[in-house]
Amino acid sequence: MALIVQKYGGSSVADAESIKRVAKRIVDTRRAGHDVVVAVSAMGDTTDMLLDLAAQVTPIQNPRELDMLLSSGERISMALLAMAIHSLGYEARSFTGSQAGMITTAHYGAARIVDVTPARVREALDEGAIVIVAGFQGFNRDTRDITTLGRGGSDTTAVALASALEAEVCEIYSDVDGVFTADPRVVPRARKLDTISSEEMLELAANGAKVLYIRAVEFARRHGVLIHARSTFTSGPGTYVLAPGMTRPEGQEGEDMEEPIVAGVATDLGQAKVTVIGVPDVPGKAAEIFKVVARSGANVDMIVQNVSAAATGRTDISFTLPKSDASAALKALAADQAEIGFESLVHDDQIGKLSVVGAGMRTHSGVSATLFEALSAAGINIEMISTSEIRISVVVRGDDLTAAARVVHSAYDLDGDTEAVVHAGTGR
Ligand code: ADP
Ligand code: ASP
Ligand code: MG
Repeated sequence: MALIVQKYGGSSVADAESIKRVAKRIVDTRRAGHDVVVAVSAMGDTTDMLLDLAAQVTPIQNPRELDMLLSSGERISMALLAMAIHSLGYEARSFTGSQAGMITTAHYGAARIVDVTPARVREALDEGAIVIVAGFQGFNRDTRDITTLGRGGSDTTAVALASALEAEVCEIYSDVDGVFTADPRVVPRARKLDTISSEEMLELAANGAKVLYIRAVEFARRHGVLIHARSTFTSGPGTYVLAPGMTRPEGQEGEDMEEPIVAGVATDLGQAKVTVIGVPDVPGKAAEIFKVVARSGANVDMIVQNVSAAATGRTDISFTLPKSDASAALKALAADQAEIGFESLVHDDQIGKLSVVGAGMRTHSGVSATLFEALSAAGINIEMISTSEIRISVVVRGDDLTAAARVVHSAYDLDGDTEAVVHAGTGR
């Protein structure tokens, strides 16, 4: 008998019917002879609705109270799911993150799990119960407050539980059949992958593929947890995320295709671009600018500095950052304008970022040429470029992003023969 951790996302528990369907799935796993621990997300778009509600009450929210509010979403779904399991004749017990021993840093809204002390979870398992844990939340010992782990954080709850309980596998259920070569909502010809390396998954997740949360993939890689991303709505195998040295479980071996150069394409509409115009082209200015930006709390992604105009000795510096960080960064820069000596600031939140990810890039040349040719043939203009060892990213107009993802997906021969299915969810 194995211990299996399962995580059900918001779209899997969006309404009463869905909760009952998930309860059946959990009970089936139990009937197959396994111990089951479940991490569950808030129902449907509950977290977004709670955020909207808070914004209506006040534009600037107290972080402690915001975490109190947001953590309530997962309490609703965990209790309902436990009830649904009871009605099927099985014992289930729900626990908040704090009851389940999810100990975190004190950082409201973006807490990191530092320890898991699942004594109550173990007790309940020993007594034969199915355990349901509220995802996305924890507890800080110093402040004695409830924290949340950041959007999409229930995936991390599941992986941390799987690690602490030494589960055989951490199954992450959502509204798609696994990890695809692109978001199937954007590229209908995206293909499901049987396996993906954790290295490639990290790059995809970091660049907009929210099917798995980046911190969960990191945690799994560090602690040797096997992730199986699969669908609540079908029963076939999904995608195994393999850290170095890991293999698919027995019985799940498929034909191992030759490693493709490009594993997938990720799209991100969540970034904005800031251009600092007329920066004096003397040593130290970039340092000044990015110190100010960093102090505002913004997380800078790409940076481009133009060639300076000989006549003026000034240059423009553009960078991208999450849309939600832009206003704080602009405010901070404006406050130091005289000191830094730049001329003006331009804020552009109509950009889209396209990334191509593949471990094969290390050993193959011409990967970027294919990307640029595909975009050029489609008449799509590239505004910024950045690369890492296994990724190439470009910034294009936000309106062009879908078309860009489709042509690039085709250019790397990733298109499947049939259209991918998205079973539920709003994609919000
Ligand atoms: P959940 O609510 O279950 O956590 P999410 O909405 O966070 O689910 O993640 C699932 C969604 O991720 C899918 O509906 C899909 O639109 C999106 N997605 C983005 N990139 C990919 C990809 N490469 N493969 C599969 N899904 C992807
Ligand atoms: N409910 C949280 C969110 O919507 C956490 C999660 O679903 O993973 O971000
Ligand atoms: Mg998610």
